[in-house]
Amino acid sequence: MDNATSIHAQAPVAHRTGKVYLVGAGPGDPGLLTLRGKELLQRAEVVVYDYLANPRLLRYVPEKATLIYAGKKGGGLHAYTQEGINKLLVEHAKAGKMVVRLKGGDPFIFGRGGEEMEELAAEGVSFEVVPGVTSASAAATYTGIPITHREYTASVAFITGHENPGKKFSAINWDKLATGAGTLVIYMGIKNLPEITQKLMAAGRAPETPVAVVRWASTPRQESLIGTLGTISDLVQEAGIKPPALVVVGEVVQLRHRINWFERRPLFGRRIVVTRTRVQASELVNQLEEMGADCFECPTIDIREMDDYSVLDQALQRLTEYDWLLFTSPNAVNYFFRRLQGTGKDSRALAGARIAAVGTATAGELERYGISADLLPEQFTGEGLADALLAQGDVAGRHFLLPQAQAASKVLPKKLTAAGAQLTIAPVYRNVPAVSSGNELREALSAGAIDALTFTSSSTVRNCFALLGCKDASSLQQLLGKTRIAAIGPVTAATLQEYGIETHIQPQQYTIADLVEAIVSYYGHDNPLPKVPSL
Ligand code: SAH
Repeated sequence: MDNATSIHAQAPVAHRTGKVYLVGAGPGDPGLLTLRGKELLQRAEVVVYDYLANPRLLRYVPEKATLIYAGKKGGGLHAYTQEGINKLLVEHAKAGKMVVRLKGGDPFIFGRGGEEMEELAAEGVSFEVVPGVTSASAAATYTGIPITHREYTASVAFITGHENPGKKFSAINWDKLATGAGTLVIYMGIKNLPEITQKLMAAGRAPETPVAVVRWASTPRQESLIGTLGTISDLVQEAGIKPPALVVVGEVVQLRHRINWFERRPLFGRRIVVTRTRVQASELVNQLEEMGADCFECPTIDIREMDDYSVLDQALQRLTEYDWLLFTSPNAVNYFFRRLQGTGKDSRALAGARIAAVGTATAGELERYGISADLLPEQFTGEGLADALLAQGDVAGRHFLLPQAQAASKVLPKKLTAAGAQLTIAPVYRNVPAVSSGNELREALSAGAIDALTFTSSSTVRNCFALLGCKDASSLQQLLGKTRIAAIGPVTAATLQEYGIETHIQPQQYTIADLVEAIVSYYGHDNPLPKVPSL
């Protein structure tokens, strides 16, 4: 697409008519959103979302869009009434907006999506509906229960358990359902579980029929409990299971012992704090979650531009004079190239210099600009990089450009200048303490609710401990209690030591992938199934 067309395509259209897209957010795992749903979120101008729609999906929404939380937490606390929501949708659509109505699971399965769309139809507002993975499907799949199975059942019923049990004429014919469908999946059934199980047994379903209750299915907080029609109500009460949870009744539940895959992942049930910058946290979070961890994101550092780029700007004027460009972080790469491109140049301007990266993440970032690093040290630290350059034996008198964080470690520059290098240090970004959830982290730690804290640089250590605000080493040690400490490498571990904190987990190689692997080996690869009473 050339420039002319792209400008044309983005021009605002006068008198646009709005439209509402009712989108199923899926059951919780953000990966279960449909491609169509994602595409619509990326174009949304207004998003009206529910309690059960994972807020992480909002990261696809453009920054300038309006986000409206429509609430609805089981058992009260409605942020909006149903009428209020209907009105919101109609108003925004009539104002010409592209509205996404995001609902948990599938909007047409116990989601009141039908009612909302009827209202839009009555108001003459156009709309489309995108189905989602319903929580019944996720709850079964993520606990290893095939909802149908040739040897066990050929039918499945989705039922609401929310009906008032005292209702004289129930719309649900429990007598027929009890034995009429092989698998029964009951939504919103926790509160009325004692009555429901009684009715099913009274209508002839055997008390030994296996039952699973699954809370927050498909999320890292998933909890599941197995019992029988006869025992499950008491078990749920003992365990204190609260909504949102689903009840799966039927012989297929037995298969879970063979095919439970989700809860067996190595870090399932482990609550791990990630303290990197907001931008970089995602890589570590993604990898930990892939292993099943429940990540608590507590960004301690924000990355900011410099106020003054004069050193870099001068260096960019005489790039051809440099023999080496040294990059010691992915951020340095990005801020360097942003500035370079701002002067109308691109990677070709670096053709004359050799380029070194401190580690694989930095090298990966360079690849994005079409550059393969000429040098990668064995040890991914500033010192490692200095040693690798010195080992090449051609440092004295050579010109080096080092674009880096304002308060970066001095080890690399010291070693190079000591060896006679001509070094230009260009600060290209700054680390500032993030305004973040220190209180929340402190509470979680004192409740013993955190399994491990991860640190990926000395500044994450300093900023995190500053956030926690302990007055001395012993109160910090006390707050951390049994929480395990994971550090990416020796420099970070040494900083922890300064605070009197011991590092329990540390990888051989200083990369995110190796850190995750070290955490996994620390906890053991085989996660035993959560304790469940046998049938
Ligand atoms: N439209 C939704 C259901 C909304 S009704 C869907 O298709 O899934 C709300 C009920 O759905 C909750 O009370 C609970 O029973 C169930 N539910 C939704 N998400 C769930 C989840 N992640 N885990 C377990 N149950 C869930």
